[in-house]
Amino acid sequence: MKTSVVWFKTDLRLHDNETLVKAIAQSDQIIPVYCFDDSHFETTDYGFKKTGNFRAQFLLESLQNLDRSLRELNSGLLILRGKPEVEIPKIVAEYKAQKVFAKREVAFEEKQMELLLQTELFKLRCEFETSSTSTLYHAEDLPFSIKDIPDVFSNFRKKIEKDATVRPIFDKPLFINSPKFPESVLPTLADLGLEYKAIDCRAAIQFEGGENEAIKRLNHYFFETKSISNYKETRNEMIGTDYSSKFSAWLALGCISPRFIYQEIKKYESQFGSNDSTYWLVFELLWRDFFRFMFKKHQTKFFLYSGIKTDRENSKSLNENLLSQWISGTTNSDFINANMLELKLTGFMSNRGRQNVASYFCNELNIDWRLGAAYFEQQLIDYDVCSNWGNWAYLAGVGNDPRGHRYFNIEKQANDYDKKHIFRDLWLKS
Ligand code: FAD
Repeated sequence: MKTSVVWFKTDLRLHDNETLVKAIAQSDQIIPVYCFDDSHFETTDYGFKKTGNFRAQFLLESLQNLDRSLRELNSGLLILRGKPEVEIPKIVAEYKAQKVFAKREVAFEEKQMELLLQTELFKLRCEFETSSTSTLYHAEDLPFSIKDIPDVFSNFRKKIEKDATVRPIFDKPLFINSPKFPESVLPTLADLGLEYKAIDCRAAIQFEGGENEAIKRLNHYFFETKSISNYKETRNEMIGTDYSSKFSAWLALGCISPRFIYQEIKKYESQFGSNDSTYWLVFELLWRDFFRFMFKKHQTKFFLYSGIKTDRENSKSLNENLLSQWISGTTNSDFINANMLELKLTGFMSNRGRQNVASYFCNELNIDWRLGAAYFEQQLIDYDVCSNWGNWAYLAGVGNDPRGHRYFNIEKQANDYDKKHIFRDLWLKS
């Protein structure tokens, strides 16, 4: 009897899950596990939590949903807590597993973890196989080697659009052969050193974790409201549920796959027609791919003050006062304050808002951009290591912006995107 462990991480779904499909195909019995890695709940060197309350709550909901869905297929999710390189080998030994399957990582800490686990599994003569499951375009289908991936997004996009295709999705399994598992017990937020904080009722969306909610959201945004047909015109707005897809949080935890979204866009286009907006959502998903592949190429550089550039000065000294004004939404810009309050009280901020507050942080407050990125890491429900640090480096002028230095005139932006002060009033007056 061949037993395999499937280690779920940020791929908390049953549809289009190559890791799971491969494991089922090669095994008689599957042990699905999730490990609450203690290091994900620590305070970083920047003084912020690696995972804040909002995202932790979303994670718990996503795991509950995954466990329920696995149980419907005769399986279930074993919940572990501690260091993955210690806890997963214990499961391997207990169930006499011969192989562990997992999603392939690109960012530094995650890659280190893969290596640590692989070393421990080797001692148990257990194989370790990873699959690339996060991106729209499969890493193996890129029309360039990793080192030759263009650093400029438009060059990357044009070549991909011309020379690569999106693979079809993997179907959700119909049955999973697993031993009978005890009921899964998730840690509470308090166990994780956090506390429950309700998302403010003014939030653009009340995110709820899990694959079911992700698919519900997609059906709402595409087929029920047809909002996707206006995406290009509305995507820079800041109030309301449907100005943008809001797929980011589910994408970040892998509750939905970008290829599934792509397939549904194609379905939508065949029923209701394609336009610039339906194309633009794919365009944005390509940005997400781009940052992930950039991490594969440049690795730890995205965490350096100088980013992927070589000609930058040293890090700046910290002005604590300015940092705390930015965080608490008490700077001298009402537009920045409104956005920062939204982030603090909901765990979300529009893309327009993120660009402005990051630009303000780097150019007006003149603080080391990595502190801003670290605060976002704590606060965002949709935090994704590559999208977050990649976008921050871009706005700090040390990433993939070919212009080198992008400066947002905050007053002009406020006037262009919140002319009637509705967004500012929502957060500052009520
Ligand atoms: P939509 O406009 O509906 O876009 C659809 C999807 O495309 C998004 O869900 C996302 O997966 C992808 N996408 C869109 N814009 C970008 C972009 N600029 N970079 C990468 N992917 C993109 N996005 C994250 O998912 N996680 C982060 O941690 C994150 N941090 C950011 C930090 C800064 C400073 C900035 C400027 C942007 C950041 N973004 C991040 C990108 C973007 O702001 C969010 O993806 C988007 O606002 C989420 O809302 P949505 O799902 O409604 O987006």
